[in-house]
Amino acid sequence: MSGAPERLDHFMARANAAYYSRQNPFADFTTAPEISQIFGEIIGAWTAVVWESLGCPNPVLLAEAGPGRGTMMADARRLTARVAPAFHAAAQVHLIETSPRLRAEQSRRVPDAVWHDGLETLPDGSMILVANEFLDALPIRQFRHEGAIWLERHVEDGAFVELPCPPPADLPEDEAALEGVLEVNEPAEAFAEALAQRLVAQGGVALILDYGTPQNPGDSLQAIRAQRPAEPLAHAGEADLTALVDFGAIARAASRAGAATQGPVPQGTFLSRLGLFQRVERLARGRTPEEAAALMTGARRLAEPLQMGGLFKAMAITASSWPELPGFAA
Ligand code: SAH
Repeated sequence: MSGAPERLDHFMARANAAYYSRQNPFADFTTAPEISQIFGEIIGAWTAVVWESLGCPNPVLLAEAGPGRGTMMADARRLTARVAPAFHAAAQVHLIETSPRLRAEQSRRVPDAVWHDGLETLPDGSMILVANEFLDALPIRQFRHEGAIWLERHVEDGAFVELPCPPPADLPEDEAALEGVLEVNEPAEAFAEALAQRLVAQGGVALILDYGTPQNPGDSLQAIRAQRPAEPLAHAGEADLTALVDFGAIARAASRAGAATQGPVPQGTFLSRLGLFQRVERLARGRTPEEAAALMTGARRLAEPLQMGGLFKAMAITASSWPELPGFAA
């Protein structure tokens, strides 16, 4: 689009909708479930334990938002079929995905799923929802202030322009957080609030995994193309645009709906507490040394603080205050 300045979130929504429907995102970036089958297996084991702590509701919705290629759910289902057959049979799989191309990918790995565009059409009932790298793909707005004057970033002819705007709602109380760029992910907050409302009304637990920070991340917009950082405004629809998730804002959104949250804890801590490295050892038995080394490399990439283990975080949303869930207890 050229001529009129376009609000950053409108630009990002348009670029990502084109990107996820046209491109093969997994040529550009690698997510945790694509690095190691153990990621999805651990998430599967987590959902089975959570189901028991919910009192074994039957049926139960097992939902995922933004499933990508469907790898995490396929790995989780393969594990629960073996180790938690009662949960496996009770679970009805629902996938929230807007890209027809990715829906087709997912149906190859999770053929028994039902698809939805959003939370609204999910059937009623107790639910366990998981989402990995979903919220980071939703469009952000960016604000900055000079004294009392607020400016919002727009995009015009491939460059940023700042236009005066009213002060954003729900400003952080912390003055320091107001310096520099303030990033607001309205759809992520709306998703968390609607999800929390549903959990409060109908029961269940959600697990959000994503790269993010406990408070406002500042300017974190990034583009990835062919596994490398790219200029965010230059390749609309050809690069994956994401921003860090503000877990503080997600927790406030959940609490507005009367729900409770646990975490965020670093992904490395979460996965290690859930037995990531024991699982590597178990799977490595009877494999070639090369295969065993590859399993260990994948696990380290997921867990080490300087790789994905530190910047990625896990947060749970529960209907009410709830005993600490697996991975969240020290
Ligand atoms: N969870 C997967 C994929 C992450 S990529 C993994 O870990 O590999 C983000 C996913 O969210 C893609 O499946 C994308 O199509 C989906 N997505 C992005 N915006 C969406 C929206 N507004 N509604 C539903 N799904 C969306």
